[in-house]
Amino acid sequence: MTMAASLLIVGAGPAGLMAALVAASRNPPHGVTVVERLPAAGVKLAASGGGRGNLSHIATEDEFVAAFGKHGRFTLPAFRALPPEALQRLLKDIGVPTLVDDTGRVYPRSQSAAAVRDALFHACRKAGVRFQFGQQVQSLTVPATPEEQWRVDSWTAHSVLLAAGGQSTPRLGSDGSGFALARSLGYSIIPPVPALTSIQTMETWPGILRGVSLPDATLAIADSRGSAVRGELLFTHRGLSGPAVLNLSGRIARLRYDGHPVILRLSVMPDLPSFARQRTIAGTRRILSWLSESLPRSLATVLLELSGIPRDLTFSRLAMGQERALLLHLTACPLTVSSTGGFEQSMATAGGITLKQVCPETLAGRLTPRLFLAGEILDLDGPTGGWNLHWAFCSGYLAGMKAGF
Ligand SMILES: Cc1cc2nc3c(=O)[nH]c(=O)nc-3n(C[C@H](O)[C@H](O)[C@H](O)COP(=O)(O)OP(=O)(O)OC[C@H]3O[C@@H](n4cnc5c(N)ncnc54)[C@H](O)[C@@H]3O)c2cc1C
Repeated sequence: MTMAASLLIVGAGPAGLMAALVAASRNPPHGVTVVERLPAAGVKLAASGGGRGNLSHIATEDEFVAAFGKHGRFTLPAFRALPPEALQRLLKDIGVPTLVDDTGRVYPRSQSAAAVRDALFHACRKAGVRFQFGQQVQSLTVPATPEEQWRVDSWTAHSVLLAAGGQSTPRLGSDGSGFALARSLGYSIIPPVPALTSIQTMETWPGILRGVSLPDATLAIADSRGSAVRGELLFTHRGLSGPAVLNLSGRIARLRYDGHPVILRLSVMPDLPSFARQRTIAGTRRILSWLSESLPRSLATVLLELSGIPRDLTFSRLAMGQERALLLHLTACPLTVSSTGGFEQSMATAGGITLKQVCPETLAGRLTPRLFLAGEILDLDGPTGGWNLHWAFCSGYLAGMKAGF
């Protein structure tokens, strides 16, 4: 039996739910159907931010564009359609008041991402959206003439919105099947790689420090034009994690995908005081005890060892060669990446439908009539801090507005 919809949305993630809500509330007679492969809506949204849901980030247009890197300008029309304050108002209207922490991150006041998911789902239902759960869309057929409908498995639809996400953490929903659907329509996919994930290193010394965290470290990719990332860093049993690492991991994965070995430069003391001054004012002081004032003692011990410096050496006995080695290990310690965390544990997908084939003002695909694209399925990914969910929400909002009429 063929079922008909005016707008059929593939995927009930934050992008699909927001689009459905906007399309159905602005144009009630419009039949909106959402098809979702999991048994429930917004499973990843409900798990986001460790269950607390870092939903958005208070930001100016320029900051939002910058967060999405070289393709950032593509996000502008969607961001303008639903800036963070407007998202906060919309969520409040459906019963989810939010709060902003002192770094600009937006969370539900209830600290429950599941409550956000529930509120969006119920608002959609109230607006007349129909849901089909447990059904994975397998095929999309383009209308042969402008009068014809789309065919989506056993549905027909005037317009289609593909909001099927990327392929990170597939147990929470998106498994990359959206990319295959887009490819079947002729869209080019920038090869997906995992982003926002931990990294493993060839060096085994980070394992000695597992569990040790640094509130302020700088990490850069050696011989790369991209800027360094500064923030919290965590040593793990096989490498590194923490926000600074997560935010660099997409670039690392892309370089490795392209066949380049990746060497990182880790600075554990971004603001290093002068050694010469220490020699003058505290020549008899042990270097280890001085370092331990700024760094965890276990890390200071490892870095001295890597620099070939005995633990009990004082500043006055530090030779030039040792000083150079220590400086290197404190400010540009080399680490060779052996692997990144993979899709199974990554929080975002870098790559996706190429933006050249999508109109940023409407989020309509340029190759097919009345096909819209929103959320992580597009070749955009941001850092940790609520940027990715904001992109999902605002792109869903814009696509829902354009597709709903
Ligand atoms: C553990 C975790 C925590 C995160 N925490 C945060 C956070 O705090 N803040 C933040 O900004 N970002 C966070 N993210 C990233 C954020 O969740 C995603 O960027 C966002 O969910 C993307 O939204 P989306 O709607 O585009 O895709 P998804 O949320 O991936 O939704 C796509 C939906 O489409 C469905 N689907 C896919 N293919 C098909 C098909 N063929 N047929 C039918 N249905 C299909 C999937 O099952 C899925 O439900 C986190 C991610 C993870 C994995």
